[in-house]
Amino acid sequence: MTMFRRGTCLCGRVDVTLEGEPLAIVACHCAHCRTQGGTALSLVAVMPQDAVRIAGALTDYPDTGGSTRRFCGACGTPVETVSLGTRREGTRVVKLGLFDGVDLLPPVVETFGRERAAWLPPFEGTAVFETMPGLDGEEAGRDLDHCGADAA
Ligand SMILES: [Zn+2]
Ligand SMILES: [Zn+2]
Repeated sequence: MTMFRRGTCLCGRVDVTLEGEPLAIVACHCAHCRTQGGTALSLVAVMPQDAVRIAGALTDYPDTGGSTRRFCGACGTPVETVSLGTRREGTRVVKLGLFDGVDLLPPVVETFGRERAAWLPPFEGTAVFETMPGLDGEEAGRDLDHCGADAA
């Protein structure tokens, strides 16, 4: 079954189409995702590069660490985060809140678990990383301050 989902920002000027299966649904607890979203955590779909189509004008905010947070300049809805990691891995990270039926796509990975709100109950079946996958354990010394930052 090929998944096909269409989402929009709050004002409808930006249209996003996901074609195919997400590589992962991620809940990010980092400070930048929380601030940008005005919320306690961010839910995103990690997609193969060629499985995302975005129509409409996005405004880019150059975040620290070489990443870009892209949003609708008219209504402020966060749409996409481009990072050194996504460029390297050939993925696109799209905000899940754009789409209907987010309850059908529960997170499988949690990033920046060290900043997880203490009142938030544990999610069932997620892999929780202190920062980003691949940066736990001995690599944790390469500290990141948010999910879009580059550790290298
Ligand atoms: Zn908009
Ligand atoms: Zn984040």
